[in-house]
Amino acid sequence: MKLKQTKYIFVTGGVTSSLGKGIISASLAKLLQSRGFKVTIQKLDPYINIDPGTLNPYEHGECYVTEDGAETDLDLGHYERFIDLPTSKANNVTTGKVYQSVINKERKGDYLGKTVQIIPHITDEIKRRIRLLAEKNDYDIVITEIGGTVGDIESLPYIESVRQLKWDLGSQNCLVIHLTLVPYLAATGELKTKPTQHSVKMLQENGIQPDILVLRTERELSEDLRAKVSLFCNVDKQSVIESINVSTIYEVPMVMKKEKLDVVTLTKLGIPVKEEPELGPWKDFLNKLKSPSKDVKIGLIGKYVELHDAYKSISESFIHAGAMNECRVELEYIHSESIDKDSAEEKLRGLQGILVAPGFGNRGLEGKIIATKYARENNVPFLGICLGMQCAVIEFARNVLKLDDADSSEMNPDTPFPVIDLMEEQKGLTKKGGTMRLGAYKCEVKENSKSYDAYQTAMVSERHRHRYEFNNEYLDKFEKNGMHAVGINPDSELVEIMEIPGHRWYVGVQFHPEYRSTVLHPHPLFSSFVKAASEV
Ligand code: GLN
Repeated sequence: MKLKQTKYIFVTGGVTSSLGKGIISASLAKLLQSRGFKVTIQKLDPYINIDPGTLNPYEHGECYVTEDGAETDLDLGHYERFIDLPTSKANNVTTGKVYQSVINKERKGDYLGKTVQIIPHITDEIKRRIRLLAEKNDYDIVITEIGGTVGDIESLPYIESVRQLKWDLGSQNCLVIHLTLVPYLAATGELKTKPTQHSVKMLQENGIQPDILVLRTERELSEDLRAKVSLFCNVDKQSVIESINVSTIYEVPMVMKKEKLDVVTLTKLGIPVKEEPELGPWKDFLNKLKSPSKDVKIGLIGKYVELHDAYKSISESFIHAGAMNECRVELEYIHSESIDKDSAEEKLRGLQGILVAPGFGNRGLEGKIIATKYARENNVPFLGICLGMQCAVIEFARNVLKLDDADSSEMNPDTPFPVIDLMEEQKGLTKKGGTMRLGAYKCEVKENSKSYDAYQTAMVSERHRHRYEFNNEYLDKFEKNGMHAVGINPDSELVEIMEIPGHRWYVGVQFHPEYRSTVLHPHPLFSSFVKAASEV
């Protein structure tokens, strides 16, 4: 279906953060896409960083990387996993990016002597970036999630931009969905609507009347409660949507369908509601997810394990791959700093698969290297991602090639054997932000390898985020002694995949397969890894 004019949906959040605006946005997008509309989702992040690339994962979780090499908020990962379409640089806007554009224009003299202000200059730039996404790509519907919580000082310019856009575009083309929480008070046995009333009032103070309210709740909302929210918040009753807790985020599109979020949205936008959404493959996935025939226990070795969001795309990839293999993946998060020579056996015994995670810097590195050694020596299926692959290379160099003190020059610039070394194009770079090797690059996969068996094709494209690479000076030595480069970038000769052929399943990848796994297309390497682990 092609709409004459792009429709804009904004998703704001109230009461508290972490209510799942990203999942609601992605679920609505899924439902609209399943009705034949061309939809995308954008995230506006109110922080001043240009992008999350320089942020510690403990701050906001994983940094997600798009095909075109943008380092973005992890919600973009949810968007892609739900709608199965790539996002891009334009799908994530931050206050840093907005101010950078405005300040650059000011320095060029583009404002012709005017005083540069939040209204109209910052808000114009925000509106430009929202509309640009639609204009460039011909979308029917753009869903824009506003990060933060209504009432935050830093969200104000975004809320103001939405108010203006609603005015500019007219209410038939623009809609605001506000997500809030209805807490349950055990002491009185009641669900409370006051926080919702207050947060809607706050939006109204900023000139926005929400069109639809989505209420997060642990218990079913009664008709009376819905009527009360409707009365106090100026929202018709069928636009008060219940979002009850469910066991998996992938259930949310079904719950939103039952609550008719898509129907109410389309009706308010003046779009005729014709077909039912086509959700067959999604339901098949849910059925498999809910009725696994076996369990498989995989250890994720990383140094940010206290915050599971730091490995969001990896854990979601296991959910997709698990469903495909009809098994439930129990992911055991193991802190790499807790692993040393003495504790390795006790920590890693019983795992059917070991994944060594991406990362930066020295902290926890030795534990990761010990885990790769354990996997290699004990024939435990192993997947090393980015730094995880580099650890596998270092371990092999030290323990098989007997290159004592082999290392990555990231960790030890004075190592006599820099088996992992800084890429040529990285030398001389001083700025940290946005300067890694980022985004999709081609990789040629050799036949007769575990990776080829997984991909079933010789040319793949995978996303990257790193500065260091396998040092090709050592390639011969590795190949002769049993670790093979089975994936190579055809343009730069950079090693992309290392494998140990005699091993049950031992694959190290310089890229990040987790960024490409979606519900409908689980990543072949994760699927194959889970399959190998389930056979242990
Ligand atoms: N720190 C390593 C590098 O920059 C690995 C990066 C990663 O794991 N994403 O090459």
